[in-house]
Amino acid sequence: MDWVLSWRVALFSLLEDVPVHLRPLVASISIDGTSATTLIVDRNTGEPLCRPFLYNESCPDALPTVKSVAPANHTVCSGSSTLCKLVSWWNIEESNKKSALLLHQADWLLWLLHGKLGVSDYNNALKVGYDPALDSYPPWLHSQPYSQLLPSVIAPGTSIGNLKEDIRTQFGFQEDCIVCAGTTDSIAAFLAARATQPGKAVTSLGSTLAIKLLSTTRIDDARFGVYSHRLDDKWLVGGASNTGGAVLKQFFTDEQLQILSEQINPMEASPLDYYPLKAVGERFPVADPNLVPRLHPRPESDVEYLHGILESIAHIEAKAYNLLKDLGATQVEEVFTAGGGAKNDKWTKIRERVLGLPVSRAKQTEAAYGAALLALKGAQHDSC
Ligand code: ADP
Repeated sequence: MDWVLSWRVALFSLLEDVPVHLRPLVASISIDGTSATTLIVDRNTGEPLCRPFLYNESCPDALPTVKSVAPANHTVCSGSSTLCKLVSWWNIEESNKKSALLLHQADWLLWLLHGKLGVSDYNNALKVGYDPALDSYPPWLHSQPYSQLLPSVIAPGTSIGNLKEDIRTQFGFQEDCIVCAGTTDSIAAFLAARATQPGKAVTSLGSTLAIKLLSTTRIDDARFGVYSHRLDDKWLVGGASNTGGAVLKQFFTDEQLQILSEQINPMEASPLDYYPLKAVGERFPVADPNLVPRLHPRPESDVEYLHGILESIAHIEAKAYNLLKDLGATQVEEVFTAGGGAKNDKWTKIRERVLGLPVSRAKQTEAAYGAALLALKGAQHDSC
């Protein structure tokens, strides 16, 4: 599979999809990409020097080197971090080291549009070691020989430049259409929910349960896989549990989930106490690789069983928000929900009772919507 070619083709077919009469109205463009999907390109031509490293690829060969230079438990100390990918490439590459440049997926796609090589944003750059509090690469990274490959970093939503002339004329965009720094997929999905005040949070109830909370303080705790992304003058604190919809899927089809849920009384607490997991092991809000799934006893009634599982997942969610608070994050005030579980109104009511907070479905959850909001921010700033 030629990933890079397919990304390029997808980008231009998306531009093609913008209705012709709307193209002159496009003031600004931004792109989100998968975090830690990494390209090593030629710094003169922008062409990839090797196949891309995908987000979930692990480079354990680079871990000892990375761990020897980074602070303990730093977010780069994971085999799939961007820095491990860079070091892995650096250690086996012989000829192209001098002309190489590292870009993330979003950076590279944005470059196709603005033409200035070597620009990234501080969300994508977190996993290569960029320190968003210092607003620079830290000294331990700067002193490494491969630091010459690192891109310059700006805030997401900052204008990088105008859309390239050939693209503009080919598609019929305006002369002053700008291209703005992007972000990662999951941050774009958070931005889509428009949770802009500290204390607002988004719970994603997909296959797993992930929470993201806007906080005035930064929290990083590798024990729980908790780390913070910068969002202007605030921090987006996140953690992910292994519980979630994948467990429900083991027992019920989506249709059954809907029918059974309708029969649940969400105001009544279920007496069943489970820890729903698909496999052994949990990271957040309990860091225990040996935690065993608890899904017994199973009552005869499927409605009661589902009620017990939904309620137990809600308790894990509550524990997760409490842990973030204990670690020093801003106290959560309101929760928006994304993912497959967001459409379950009974579950929403159960969660409101268990969390003691207003819970609602996020109106927008598409990452693309969040990227469009970043583009809007860039356009507003540009016109000031
Ligand atoms: P993914 O993380 O795979 O993108 P989705 O956001 O598409 O997940 O959500 C899929 C999950 O939603 C499935 O695991 C499914 O069990 C769960 N789900 C689907 N319908 C419901 C429902 N009515 N109530 C609760 N969970 C649901």
